[in-house]
Amino acid sequence: MDLLNTLVEKGLRRELPTREEALAVLATTDDELLDVVAAAGKVRRQWFGRRVKLNYLVNLKSGLCPEDCSYCSQRLGSKAEILKYTWLKPDEASEAAAAGVAGGAKRVCLVASGRGPTDKDVDRVSKTIEAIKDRHEDVEVCACLGLLSDGQAERLRAAGADAYNHNLNTSEATYGDITTTHTYADRVETVQQAQAAGMSACSGLIAGMGETDADLVDVVFALRELDPDSVPVNFLIPFEGTPLAKEWNLTPQRALRILAMVRFVCPDVEVRLAGGREVHLRTMQPLALHLVNSIFLGDYLTSEGQAGQADLEMIADAGFEVEGTDTTTLPEHRAGGGCASACGEPAAGKDASPEIPAARTDLVSVRRRGAGTDLAPNA
Ligand code: SF4
Repeated sequence: MDLLNTLVEKGLRRELPTREEALAVLATTDDELLDVVAAAGKVRRQWFGRRVKLNYLVNLKSGLCPEDCSYCSQRLGSKAEILKYTWLKPDEASEAAAAGVAGGAKRVCLVASGRGPTDKDVDRVSKTIEAIKDRHEDVEVCACLGLLSDGQAERLRAAGADAYNHNLNTSEATYGDITTTHTYADRVETVQQAQAAGMSACSGLIAGMGETDADLVDVVFALRELDPDSVPVNFLIPFEGTPLAKEWNLTPQRALRILAMVRFVCPDVEVRLAGGREVHLRTMQPLALHLVNSIFLGDYLTSEGQAGQADLEMIADAGFEVEGTDTTTLPEHRAGGGCASACGEPAAGKDASPEIPAARTDLVSVRRRGAGTDLAPNA
């Protein structure tokens, strides 16, 4: 297939595909799926070998958010019966993080619900980072606290945060349909603040919210332009009690095509398979390891993932290896930052014919263990 040969060549050269090429990946058929995975897999192996980086989420503060992000179980007015608790103490968060590190995670992601942190919250998180680094010197710490105000990125960096996560989530054109309490521009600004403060930027998307193929390509091209070091790809978990509860739009094949497209557009960036992996890829999860070089271990913020041990077995069975703390995730040319190339030419895209999968509400389990509970964490 000429398209795939072209994309592999471009990926190996770190050259950006055109928008038409990215859209064409999303429009491939199920018969072509293994060819698409094999092609994107070549690009993945060129830059990341067979390594899989494990990341571990610690939800520092769960639920009760004043923002209205439609996809989020923690949003204003959410009826989802999730765990709700206020800030974990530094030692509690450090204890939760230790479970992930013991399971093989090299990055701990400290997440808090809310529009953004107060200065007092930044103090709390700084103490938490310190507590984690005291215990695990080599672990990478990523903070995800929402929109940052002036000076907060610098303070987090000074406290030892290696990275900051803030996702663009969806295209600029559809952002207002998903969230009304803040803007796409606010999100871009926070990612840029984190980069300016010297933190490694992590910014990604959520697929499956009813967006078009053109929207998906838009957000991935926007991310590429923003040049984060890691791009988490979430697949919407349609929580009962949220406005997007009925949006069951993804098949495992569609999810794999999306991951392949992200790999072709961001060949040398840490592409992380994030929330919704088990729910939407199901038994096809191992194929995704040929596309992404990073996953979350264990549970998500408000939902349960498969057992951490099953994650490790899946990686080993698929012939991949967990990346150790002695290995630098990013290829040498990126490890110091810097974008490889500019965005391609914009062009109108044709969307693939809609697929209507069955709702798999049976696979969505609210998290009832780990941080904020008395039960052991999943790692
Ligand atoms: S995504 Fe973050 S800001 Fe939006 S509702 Fe959820 S917790 Fe709040």
